[in-house]
Amino acid sequence: MEPTLVAIAGSTGSIGTQTLDVIRAENLRNPGSYEVVALGAGRSTDLLIEQAREFAPSVVVVTDGDARGVVVSSLSSTAVSGDLPDLVGPADVVVNGVVGFAGLTVTIDTLKAGKRLALANKESLIAAGPVVQPLRSIPGAELVPVDSEHCALHQCLRSSVNPEREVAQLLLTASGGPFRGRTAAELSEITVEAALAHPTWSMGPKITVDSSTLMNKGLEVIEAHELYGTPYDQIDVVVHPQSIIHSMVEFTDGSTIAQLSLPDMRLPIGYALGFPDRIASPFGRIDWSSLERLDFEPPDRATFRCLDLAYEAGRVGGTGPAWLSAANEVAVDAFLTGNLAWNEIPDVCVDVMAVHDGATPNTVDDVVEADAEARRTASRLLSKRRNNKND
Ligand code: MG
Repeated sequence: MEPTLVAIAGSTGSIGTQTLDVIRAENLRNPGSYEVVALGAGRSTDLLIEQAREFAPSVVVVTDGDARGVVVSSLSSTAVSGDLPDLVGPADVVVNGVVGFAGLTVTIDTLKAGKRLALANKESLIAAGPVVQPLRSIPGAELVPVDSEHCALHQCLRSSVNPEREVAQLLLTASGGPFRGRTAAELSEITVEAALAHPTWSMGPKITVDSSTLMNKGLEVIEAHELYGTPYDQIDVVVHPQSIIHSMVEFTDGSTIAQLSLPDMRLPIGYALGFPDRIASPFGRIDWSSLERLDFEPPDRATFRCLDLAYEAGRVGGTGPAWLSAANEVAVDAFLTGNLAWNEIPDVCVDVMAVHDGATPNTVDDVVEADAEARRTASRLLSKRRNNKND
């Protein structure tokens, strides 16, 4: 069998290193099943050089100029480039684990080249949905999400030959974050340390805060809508503290199909690499003799207001999700640096969305400009809020 040729954008980040874990495990089981043909990173030269020595890709992309110089002098026999899209050419599958807007070009070029995109870059669908969507109909272009919930939905949807007609609703599960069950009053004194202690997943600070506010889940609702075209009225969120069921699809006949596994990002990564086949290596298996219960409850939408803010922004469409996501980033940053209370994060988002201009982005530049405009607005409204407080 021919190896699957893989390019990894963001190879030194969390998704990138876990992708290489999956490839190592798969090649150990079935030698030669995957070949890493391209690696891309920003500045982490030591790890990138180590990865390149182990996997011998034909091209390495380093976006930071100084870092590129270091890599060029260490990897004499490898082509080194500064442009992320150079990763796409040699690959069958491109894993996009780039954080932020820099990942947009990888998404666009992969789909334009008619290749499979294993997508972990959030901006591609949340902020740039209207720009990315039309590219999905290019022959050969295929978008497989690398996120536990959307991967679960992807798997569940395969049990229907006509999802457009047969899906009654998508049910995204949420762990509920560390503050599940607390009242709004209790949440006014949340510290940064408390917000960063996630019960089931270990992630970076920004996304951990987002999961404590349920903004992460709200943005995932927008992603699910973009990925599967399901109307917002037919996407619901259910809190499931054990993080064993990663999402479910209810069909028109009342059947609900769920995907269960231990919480480990290597499963969605392996699913996207192997699709339509399943990889051979499990990363943890459920121990049915010790799994005692699976609990469910509705989210507390009145206390965790970010969830409904995301539904609203999704329904507005156009640059609405880009604005909300940018406003939230500015607010979370202010919280992490001690300049905003945890329970004021949704207030900042509401303030920003109140002046959203309702535009529709047609190009990547439009998306980047919408993001910048929303950040400027958020910063302005944040300082206004602080000044009002000090008066
Ligand atoms: Mg997720």
